[in-house]
Amino acid sequence: MELITTHANADFDALASMIAARKLYPGAKLVLPGSQERAVREFMSLSEDLVKIEYERDVSLENVTRLIIVETRLANRIGRMAQLVGKKGVEVHIYDHHPRTSEDVKAEKDVYKKTGATTTILAELIKRQGMKITPLEATIMALGIYEDTGSLTFPTTTMLDIDMASFLVSNGADLNLVSSYLKRELSDKELKLLAQLIQSTEIHVINSVHVAIAATTSEDYVEDLSLLAHKLEEAENYNVSFIMVQTKDKVQFIARSNLPFVDVARIAGVFGGGGHHSAAGAVIRDMNVSEARKRLIEYLRSHIRPDIKAKELISSKLPEATPDEPVRRVRDKIAGSNTEYAVIRDGNQIAGIAALKDLDKAISRGFGHSRIKGYMSGKIFPVKADTSAYTIQDIIYEKGVGCVPVFDGAKLLGIVTRSDLLRAFHARLFEKPRGKPSGRLYTLNLTSKIKRSFPKKMAELLKLIGRTADDMEFSAFAVGGFVRDLLLGVENLDIDIVIEGNAIEFTKRLAKEFCGSYVYHKRFGTATVFFPGGKFKIDVAMTRTEIYERPAALPTVKFGPIENDLFRRDFTINAMAFKLSGRGFGELLDPFKGRSDLKEGRIRALHDLSFVDDPTRIFRAGRFEQRFDFRIEPHTEDLIKKAVGLKMVDRTQKQRIREEIIAILSEEKPLKAVRRLAELNELRFIAPGLKLTKSTVNLFSSVDEALAWYDAARLKRRHGVNRWLIYLGALLDELSLAEAQKICDEFVFMKADCAKLISCKKTAEKTLSFLSKKEKLKPSQIYDCLEGLSTEALLLMMAKSAFQTARRRIMDYLTKYVNIKLSVRGDDFTKKGIRPGPHFRQVLKRTLHAKLDSKIKTKAEELDFAMRHFKG
Ligand code: ATP
Repeated sequence: MELITTHANADFDALASMIAARKLYPGAKLVLPGSQERAVREFMSLSEDLVKIEYERDVSLENVTRLIIVETRLANRIGRMAQLVGKKGVEVHIYDHHPRTSEDVKAEKDVYKKTGATTTILAELIKRQGMKITPLEATIMALGIYEDTGSLTFPTTTMLDIDMASFLVSNGADLNLVSSYLKRELSDKELKLLAQLIQSTEIHVINSVHVAIAATTSEDYVEDLSLLAHKLEEAENYNVSFIMVQTKDKVQFIARSNLPFVDVARIAGVFGGGGHHSAAGAVIRDMNVSEARKRLIEYLRSHIRPDIKAKELISSKLPEATPDEPVRRVRDKIAGSNTEYAVIRDGNQIAGIAALKDLDKAISRGFGHSRIKGYMSGKIFPVKADTSAYTIQDIIYEKGVGCVPVFDGAKLLGIVTRSDLLRAFHARLFEKPRGKPSGRLYTLNLTSKIKRSFPKKMAELLKLIGRTADDMEFSAFAVGGFVRDLLLGVENLDIDIVIEGNAIEFTKRLAKEFCGSYVYHKRFGTATVFFPGGKFKIDVAMTRTEIYERPAALPTVKFGPIENDLFRRDFTINAMAFKLSGRGFGELLDPFKGRSDLKEGRIRALHDLSFVDDPTRIFRAGRFEQRFDFRIEPHTEDLIKKAVGLKMVDRTQKQRIREEIIAILSEEKPLKAVRRLAELNELRFIAPGLKLTKSTVNLFSSVDEALAWYDAARLKRRHGVNRWLIYLGALLDELSLAEAQKICDEFVFMKADCAKLISCKKTAEKTLSFLSKKEKLKPSQIYDCLEGLSTEALLLMMAKSAFQTARRRIMDYLTKYVNIKLSVRGDDFTKKGIRPGPHFRQVLKRTLHAKLDSKIKTKAEELDFAMRHFKG
């Protein structure tokens, strides 16, 4: 007789591996030792008859000739069946994805593969032998793979797991059933335990590695502790974490790591357990929880050694300059290197370090010719060649610097930058994108949609663009938001054209056709054609490939065909084009299935490095999601969270973030996107402590009301109002004046916009308290109080005011008083012999006040009033 067994406390991978093994050993009995995980028990209670499994207590171990063990190699985990190990006449076969150890059962056949699930190993054998499997078997096996690979997301997942998941789905695996078993909610007890674990978590910095240790007690054995470990990891995002739960007579131990040099299987081995490099566990019987914790820390102290040293991280070809070199020249030196910094040397001394982003800022403000010494940082924190990467990370974080110089004695070896660290810790993020689109595939013709959606002139213009490109033997495409909005049926007259060919030559020709004008940006290969009258414009770009020299830096543009251009874009819904030139005008090019994402309401990034390449896309994702009431799909949200965790936005030029802030606050309903960003924890990139509090949310609604009133009042100055600036004021309302000023400077907002924001911050309190007074105020007093404040500041104050009286007075100012002007002019007075002088302004002001307060009306009365005051 043959028996197939697995470990006690079986999970789905164990159960599925047994079912799969029976395909390879037909006729063998399946025997479960001990108890099983709760979800497995629930599943078994319904399907026991179908899967035909027996429990160890019901099985005789006589006459067994072969024992097949799956999902473990340890005799102490297979209950009574351990008696068969080493017994004469019993052959042992093992199938397991856990790495081999010296404790393993000796077997006649031992199959090991580094996969996320043991089921995968067996499924591959079944597939190779061309065996048939039923949908029920396929479903149970899929449960095994999905459970042990976290639905194919754990770092232990391999290509083979994915291939076998696909094999099982094509054999009828029911993924609805799979997810209903895997996505189980935590019970109240488990939730309580999770909260205890979170509360008890201590972070230990051991040999520069941050390690989280959570330890608590529970009355009963915790069946599914690995699920809680997973939830804790999801919630807190630790690199290395250990969970210990003390029950009556033992300590349950779970370990997780995503650092290459922290192998938790070895650590679990110290307590008699085992597992994988990144996930492992043990049941500790000879220590209580505090002894186990002490033992763990001792072990970690002597065994965790980050093996990355400064000398291995150094950026090569470090540019150098002297303190008197001009900013622009140093910037060019940096741009020609593969780093973002230059070392400034004064003889043998290092005088400072200059950062590309600071030099860009200086150049944009017109200081390209100034000496570099005014723009470098003198804050230098040298490290030695063998300093660990983690110590460097701490220095960079605590001292707020972007890099540290590395010395061997007095000799400068180079610098280690934030990017070098990021590369060392997360090398996979920097792998080249895989799976470029293949072949040109047109999926739909949009000609009739174009005709229906646009005025005739616009459709003709698009055709003419196509004909012009044909004449020049170029290909032309409409791309991006214009195409997206056409498919959505949303009006958008911002035409973006991409040319396979020379965009500048094309732009010149197009401008000539329309007697318009054009500007171009050589570095980016882009241009804009302005049509006569100046109201309508078209942006033209050359197709670009997605070469990013450094993550989070401006892209360096190379020219390539349209598919490469689309691959460089942010989301699938923005990565569609339609053809304007050649045959097939209006053909939709949709290599990333953007149209189906539009239909399903999904925001999806094009590849896993998208947010590392350009973190501003985090803001864009939130903006588009909220504008269209779409949903950022889960994988893209994970990528965003990773980029947020890596603080990628820190490495982005503030001006680019500023543009995204403005875009978000210019949305029809900005609060929705702001809320989403707060959820993604990205408001901290505007200011570290910035939070979306209840009162900020209320202020946003009040700004909505103030703007609605302003629109309805149809005031003359309406066009001049920057809605986004008022919302920005609302967002920053709880920050101090100094903090708001810092944001204005850091993000380089336009001077006039900063002035409006700051004037409101400075005066709002005093102004509103004056305007809220109960007693009657004369129009001239209100005028005096509000004169000089921008409409944006006034509307923000209106929104901020808790009192109707103050709001009413601001409304009166905007609708009435601000329009009251004197009819008398300077020469009316000179004719009467009054000479201009300092008193002139004073008298005119008093006259205006009299007019505002309706004491005078006509020009004659104004003149008379003023003359009396000139004389008086
Ligand atoms: P909106 O309706 O807000 O103007 P849009 O999609 O037209 O939306 P733009 O900012 O005008 O947005 O950008 C035009 C196109 O350029 C986008 O549709 C997208 O294809 C591409 N794009 C813009 N910003 C990025 C970015 N950060 N990364 C990649 N592609 C981008």
